[in-house]
Amino acid sequence: MTAQLIDRFQRTIEYVRLSVTDRCDLRCRYCLPEGYRDFQEPDTWLSFDEIERVVRAFTELGVARIRLTGGEPLTRRDLPTLAARLARLPGLDDLSLSTNAVQLKKYAADLHRAGVRRLNVSLDSLHADRFAAITGGGHLNKVLDGLMAAKAVGFSPIKLNMVVMRDVNDDEIEDMVRFSLEHGFTLRLIETMPLGETGRAATEQFVDLQKIRQRLAETFDLVPAVMPGGGPARYVQVAGTDLKIGFITPLSQHFCETCNRVRLAADGTLYLCLGQNDKVELRPLLRQGISNAELKRQIHAAIALKPERHEFKEQPRKIIRFMSSTGG
Ligand code: SAM
Repeated sequence: MTAQLIDRFQRTIEYVRLSVTDRCDLRCRYCLPEGYRDFQEPDTWLSFDEIERVVRAFTELGVARIRLTGGEPLTRRDLPTLAARLARLPGLDDLSLSTNAVQLKKYAADLHRAGVRRLNVSLDSLHADRFAAITGGGHLNKVLDGLMAAKAVGFSPIKLNMVVMRDVNDDEIEDMVRFSLEHGFTLRLIETMPLGETGRAATEQFVDLQKIRQRLAETFDLVPAVMPGGGPARYVQVAGTDLKIGFITPLSQHFCETCNRVRLAADGTLYLCLGQNDKVELRPLLRQGISNAELKRQIHAAIALKPERHEFKEQPRKIIRFMSSTGG
């Protein structure tokens, strides 16, 4: 078995986004419907032993980077224990976490000790009332406390992910730039994707980030920049500062030709593309007791199914899964 995962389009897969739960303690309007309760039962989630086994197989196939995500990963009990187990795997050199930071104050030190170094934190508004409206009742102060705790224990970089929505928060981007400058965070602006009913509805507030980039250039002196591990974001830097601003533009300028990732959902379904339905269910195979060699063969076979690109623009009604169930 070759060490590397290379798909039909010559893309090397070296990054897995690992969802540890589909549950979330927020209800962001573009992600989950208000009052949504239709979550998977915990016994359908992969156990820590199963997750470690799958991640080990991936690392033996050349995957060097894992991001813990969800749903909200901090709602999965004992997440730092899982993080510590994964961080020890040979070949894994980058373990990161995406979180809404609601519970981050409590877990920041344990996660850092476990070996998580890079953090992405969702933050769509710095106004408490707006934040509550966007997130279905979330408390901004908890998120800010979580961010400050993460900064204090030494996470670096800490990236803020802001989904930009017209007439919802698009007037706050300059403030978010200043906030990021003040605290040494990286800022990433994201276009809304038509994932599930909620995502589709939210694309009515779609903002083309190419225009936002031009707008920011009127206030800030922006120069092109690169960010290691920056994924699909295209970065600029505010001249004379350390602040990098990333633009994630799945709609206005897709980046599928450089896609290097797959997503493992909490129930063990391996999704080959965020915007397509191609998948392989690993949980039944694991529970039937397949060998490690067979597991790796299945992963190779899955990578062969990875589609060329998403069709968010051409077929916006296609993906019925919410972002939280695929693993954001
Ligand atoms: N709960 C964690 C968090 O908040 O980062 C991890 C999962 S969350 C689904 C991951 C990211 O997906 C968040 O930054 C969220 O804003 C983004 N997201 C969810 N639905 C989206 C959509 N329809 N379009 C664009 N981004 C979306």
